[in-house]
Amino acid sequence: MSQATEAVRISGTLAIPRVSRNNRLYLPKELELAVRRLEDREIPVYWEHISARNAIGKARLFWNPEKMEVTYEAIITDPEAEQKIRSGIPFRVSLGADYERVDIIDGIEVPRNLFFREISLVAVPGIPEASVQVVEGAYVTESLIKIEERAVPFEATPKADEDRSWDGGRAVASLRRWASRDGSGEKDTIDWAKYRRGFAWYDEENPENFGSYKLPHHEVIDGTLCVVWRGVAAAMAALMGARGGVDIPDEDRKPVYNHLVKHYEQFDKEPPSFEKLEELRQRANALEEKGLLYEALKVTEEMFRLIGLDFNAPRPKIRFVINTRTEGE
Ligand SMILES: [Zn+2]
Repeated sequence: MSQATEAVRISGTLAIPRVSRNNRLYLPKELELAVRRLEDREIPVYWEHISARNAIGKARLFWNPEKMEVTYEAIITDPEAEQKIRSGIPFRVSLGADYERVDIIDGIEVPRNLFFREISLVAVPGIPEASVQVVEGAYVTESLIKIEERAVPFEATPKADEDRSWDGGRAVASLRRWASRDGSGEKDTIDWAKYRRGFAWYDEENPENFGSYKLPHHEVIDGTLCVVWRGVAAAMAALMGARGGVDIPDEDRKPVYNHLVKHYEQFDKEPPSFEKLEELRQRANALEEKGLLYEALKVTEEMFRLIGLDFNAPRPKIRFVINTRTEGE
């Protein structure tokens, strides 16, 4: 907690994209209800939507009925975060939310029962309009609501036995049968909204394709959708794999990480830090580029340890650094 320094107050407006790039419509009514649902409770403030670490402060949200906007007031108590804000590092404030379901109205997707979980300060180097200004003693920011759209919303499904082995092929086959109208698992019988609950990411532009669903970590066991610990760790490893790891847009990496970290918490596992994993990933990439495969492998081993996978155990079917460009070995 802060002792020497004073807490920083920030406040501002969370601008609402009325129709998002994915043809989703966030109705003012839903936003208002989401604010009211908090009943004046404070929500945590994080850096970069990473809830695995301690909150850096807390925030209250308000609904402005004239402007139909969500506004916030936050107090930042973490000394390191205070320092960053005071030093003028530009950042954006974004609101992390999830929702219960999506209704299709005239072809537009309308998320229902939004739940505001946290707000985050997200560093955005070089974007001047997002920088923090001091206004009458408070730091004021303008920002965007960010609904974590392409990461599949986290769902605390029942846990499979922690020792259960992970077989991605077996898990995906179980998901296909489960999400299939007639149990066949054939493509044209799939309820895709149901199917995606087994994964951490899917391609919204192309939802009716098996190949659009990535990072499975749930499996249907005796008719119940369960989360499998080794599947969670394997998905984390794939997310952090060097070239050959999972191919998803960069901006989706953190929401996917956040989804997986919530499963770590379900299993009482220490979640690895995103920054640390990113650092190792980049190091492994750089080493591999130089042809230093043994060193790259060592870095990958350290990453496995942090993720909670046994490096010597049979590997999940993920291509790691060592599988690419081996001609120099
Ligand atoms: Zn999940």
